[in-house]
Amino acid sequence: MVTVTINGQKVEVAPETTVLEAAEKIGVKIPTFCHDPRLKPHGSCRICVVEVKGGGNLPTACVTPVWEGMEVETESHDVVVARKEILDLILADHPLECLTCERAGSCTLQDLCYQYEIEETSFDGERTNYPIDESNDFYYSDQNKCIKCGKCVMVCDQLQQTNAIGFIGRGFETHVGTPFELGLEHSTCVSCGNCVSVCPVDSLGPKKKVKYRSWEVDKVRTTCSYCGVGCQMDLLVKDNRVVEVQPAEGVNNRMLCVKGKFAFDFLSHPDRLKKPLVRKNGRLQEATWDEAYDVITGKIKEIKEAHGPSVFAGLTSARVSTEDNYMMQKFMRAAIGTNSVDHCARL
Ligand code: SF4
Ligand code: SF4
Ligand code: SF4
Repeated sequence: MVTVTINGQKVEVAPETTVLEAAEKIGVKIPTFCHDPRLKPHGSCRICVVEVKGGGNLPTACVTPVWEGMEVETESHDVVVARKEILDLILADHPLECLTCERAGSCTLQDLCYQYEIEETSFDGERTNYPIDESNDFYYSDQNKCIKCGKCVMVCDQLQQTNAIGFIGRGFETHVGTPFELGLEHSTCVSCGNCVSVCPVDSLGPKKKVKYRSWEVDKVRTTCSYCGVGCQMDLLVKDNRVVEVQPAEGVNNRMLCVKGKFAFDFLSHPDRLKKPLVRKNGRLQEATWDEAYDVITGKIKEIKEAHGPSVFAGLTSARVSTEDNYMMQKFMRAAIGTNSVDHCARL
């Protein structure tokens, strides 16, 4: 273990620890755009610069390992000047649309400009003007707002392993895009939305069916009901309606697939069945659960008496719990008397 002093506070950490991790351990927050503990550190955005006593420059906290006796200042005069300069440079090619921007209130760039009091850029010059790629069914890519942190590209490569997007162009023309600039629709993108979930600004955003502001929603932690992996997710709920889903920490390593991330409209769909329907006089009609169970048990008994148990089969669902699936096979085997049991996940 090595002992490091951060803002006058001593902390003991393992030798390979970075300054950012050591600071996190004692609750000192260093701002980041490009850092994500799941990705290989790359220090591209440089907003996490810190001052190290005896050092000649300002190293980036996310890629600098600690050493014995290291003394770090995370908000010194020079650090604050450097961060202001970085934000000023980012804003030199970023539209100031915060009033109507979908990310207002949950945007890291907006938060840091507020913290370091950067109202506008001091640089004059050219500005990018890319068409917004809306060709994906679930999300858009607005490269005019991209701050080149690279998180989306790395998540798609290192975690999702689809490699649908990458950096295209050089210098001022660098932007995130698809091979041959054919657009998301003609790329290998599987619409998992994991790039959308990590974008710190409104460059990649979900196509909202219901407009909402970040401060209008409650977060509800739940388990995805689509398959047996059990991904953890936060439902963003406005007026008792789910308006977005964000991945949460769990077996899924803060990743989701297209279903978990984007396919939640069924929750508030008017056609969703909430009560049992029983066919009466040729028409399906709402019934009580007692009525429905009477019909089911009556028919099962009738058919079993006439044809025996082998005419029955049970097909279970990936969208119910393991315990419910267990009960279904138990019911088919013990109560009905058939081994014909299968599961929709095999189809
Ligand atoms: S991405 Fe952030 S900084 Fe840019 S316009 Fe939207 S809220 Fe403002
Ligand atoms: S949605 Fe998924 S597959 Fe498509 S670009 Fe983003 S991370 Fe890659
Ligand atoms: S699109 Fe978003 S996540 Fe990707 S590089 Fe730009 S700002 Fe970063």
